[in-house]
Amino acid sequence: MALTGLDIFKLLPKTNCKKCGMPTCLAFAMQLAQKRAKLDDCPCASEEAKGTLSAAAAPPMRLVKFGTGDNEVQLGQETVLFRHEEKFYNPTVVAVSVSDKLSVDALQKRIESINALQFERVGLKIGVKAIAVINDSGQAEAFASTAAAVKESSDTALILCSDLPDSIAAALAQTAEDRPLIASAKVDTVEAMAKIAKENNCPLVARAKSIDELADLTEKIKSQGLEDIVLSLEGLTLAEQLRNLTKIRVLALKKVFRPLGYPTLSIVEEGDADQQTMAATSLICKYCGIVIVDTVEPYAFLPMLTAGMNIYSDPQKPIQVEPKLYEIGEPDENSPVIFTTNFSLTYYTVESDIEASRVPAYILVVDTEGTSVLTAYSGDKLNEKIVADAMAKNDVKNKVKHQKLIIPGYVAVMSGKLEEALGWEIMVGPRESSMLPKYLQEVWK
Ligand code: SF4
Repeated sequence: MALTGLDIFKLLPKTNCKKCGMPTCLAFAMQLAQKRAKLDDCPCASEEAKGTLSAAAAPPMRLVKFGTGDNEVQLGQETVLFRHEEKFYNPTVVAVSVSDKLSVDALQKRIESINALQFERVGLKIGVKAIAVINDSGQAEAFASTAAAVKESSDTALILCSDLPDSIAAALAQTAEDRPLIASAKVDTVEAMAKIAKENNCPLVARAKSIDELADLTEKIKSQGLEDIVLSLEGLTLAEQLRNLTKIRVLALKKVFRPLGYPTLSIVEEGDADQQTMAATSLICKYCGIVIVDTVEPYAFLPMLTAGMNIYSDPQKPIQVEPKLYEIGEPDENSPVIFTTNFSLTYYTVESDIEASRVPAYILVVDTEGTSVLTAYSGDKLNEKIVADAMAKNDVKNKVKHQKLIIPGYVAVMSGKLEEALGWEIMVGPRESSMLPKYLQEVWK
């Protein structure tokens, strides 16, 4: 269990020397208990205190990595139950299954389809990060050759899914250097699987039918010296999975129950692409660390990947684009200049609508700390001075010869002051970005 502030205080030197930046040792202990300070900030702590406190200060959910180099993925190390309390750190890894019963041609086709599941949204790249090879054949040789083919033909991380230690050992003989995730150890295979995982320095999935069994299983795995564990529950309906994922999260983060302090994995294998999207997105929303799906339909991935991207963005820091002058098409001295804010969603919406208009234009992106037009204006992050500064900084007056600036319709109220500040004609654009093509073609001309 977690140490309280008073427990921690008893282990500190109690000199109130302030070297940690806190006025007293008690204040530091309280911060440490709430995980708002690091033990390293106290240079005076004894070795004994460090030993006790570092164990207690360890994150309530372990960080687990698999894959290597650019293909390495990270799971866990979450600290809060709700995103608004702080933020979620390591986005759910979406993986796609590949059966070891596929023919050579079908296997290559499926790997190519999975490799293509990469998308760009509001300037960020999202996509499938892992392939799960499934030992449907029950044969070690087929499993190993499929795993090797995936390793050869894909840049994604690898998950080896088999209940048979011999199959896992055979696949690792071909793929261990890529540090795959091994799935799974069960009650009857835990010793053999943990031994293989430890020998190959790979993380291991513990898979059980209930949370109690799972907690026992992770303790057994840990007793064999393996710390990198992922939790998985089997034989449950989607509703039961969601309930249990929530329970695991509460026990890990709120109760600091170490046997469940690991990221989780769920497998979605039933239903068509739409049903899998629905199930996977629900699991992503309810804390699942890895979701393995069976579909390769591109349309099925956008909702789940977008949900993950949104949930794992920092609620305190909206996704932003660089504030600068962007050129859309090949604008010249007669092209329109339109300003907007550096909130990513706003910028990319405006950008795509201008592209759709086929009117080459400049977009002046003003730094509003990632807030949208109305939010920025109401918070005084968008005013005539800020726009005038951005115009000067980007030397807009030397890019065009017309001295006309199109402003978002929602901040038409700015036009008078902006005209005075710039000495330019202010044209009030449409309120909705989707009306920009019509505006540029009919009003701007
Ligand atoms: Fe106490 Fe250590 Fe902070 Fe000094 S640095 S006040 S000893 S916690």
